[in-house]
Amino acid sequence: MTKPRVAILGLGLMGTGMAGRVLTAGFPLAVYNRNPEKTAPFAKAGAYVARTPRDAAARSDIIISMLADDNASRAVWLDKETGTLAAAAPGTWLVESSTASVQWIHELAAAAKQKECELLDAPVTGSKPQAAAGELLFLVGGSTEALAAVRPVLAVMSRDIVHLGPTGSGATLKLINNFLCGVQAASLAEAMSLLTASGLDREKSVAILAAGAPGSPLLKVLTTRAAANDFTPNFVLRLMAKDLTYAREEGARRGVAMNTAAPAIADFEKAIAAGYADQDFSAIIPALQKP
Ligand code: NAP
Repeated sequence: MTKPRVAILGLGLMGTGMAGRVLTAGFPLAVYNRNPEKTAPFAKAGAYVARTPRDAAARSDIIISMLADDNASRAVWLDKETGTLAAAAPGTWLVESSTASVQWIHELAAAAKQKECELLDAPVTGSKPQAAAGELLFLVGGSTEALAAVRPVLAVMSRDIVHLGPTGSGATLKLINNFLCGVQAASLAEAMSLLTASGLDREKSVAILAAGAPGSPLLKVLTTRAAANDFTPNFVLRLMAKDLTYAREEGARRGVAMNTAAPAIADFEKAIAAGYADQDFSAIIPALQKP
């Protein structure tokens, strides 16, 4: 059976690894990135480099986007001149894997339907190393039929694929997931500031926290990075601020108070203002330390 033609739109930290997996698995691949420099390794490896999302869409059966936020997603899918939906043929399967707001996912799904295409929201857990290794977890919202059509492609990028329900279900759980991570990272950074201000031995104290009840996998990863003073991005800090904001908005839309989101967003905004936006989100720890 011939493999479907795939497009990956967005070659950031995540999209680069995902596109690499799809290409290695032998799917005909078109890639698009706003900054064309990131496409060079894919051109060398035999992928088609599209000049616009529209160009990629015109030659693909399955289109997957992995972009920063709602604004990026809107620009790539809906721009009248260069956008994906301007050229996607009826019946093309569309996958939004960016962490996006649930409202935007519904709007995009409606726009796709007008073009006789179906959209799956399929955001992921896992980070840059998992994307490169094909070890992501896809959280999927949309129809069973659409998922069956794209599953062989998602499979080469993932350790598992979970179908959560109708359109928006994947996006919703992803925001809940990152709300919990973001609030925890902010509270950890505050705890580390108190620890320092109190004059406690940092290494000894962190070992106790990591081995005890608060010692989540996230706490362990973030404190290890902070101890090594290595903030090379796996997940850039400004995107966590974005996810917390989308989660708070989704809570508001559903009448659920997400009271802990606001102070966590304030902590991340403080870190962004202090110049940490493009570092790994573990840099929230040094960002909140007193000068
Ligand atoms: P990233 O490295 O910052 O890449 C962002 C991508 O979006 C780049 O391709 C960028 O293009 C593109 N972009 C941004 N604004 C754009 C615009 N206005 N128009 C067109 N393209 C635009 O981010 P990432 O870490 O790969 O994350 C991608 C998505 O996955 C985000 O929604 C993030 O929240 C989510 N996510 C990330 C992780 C992680 O650990 N990194 C894990 C799970 C989910 P340029 O190269 O031209 O800037």
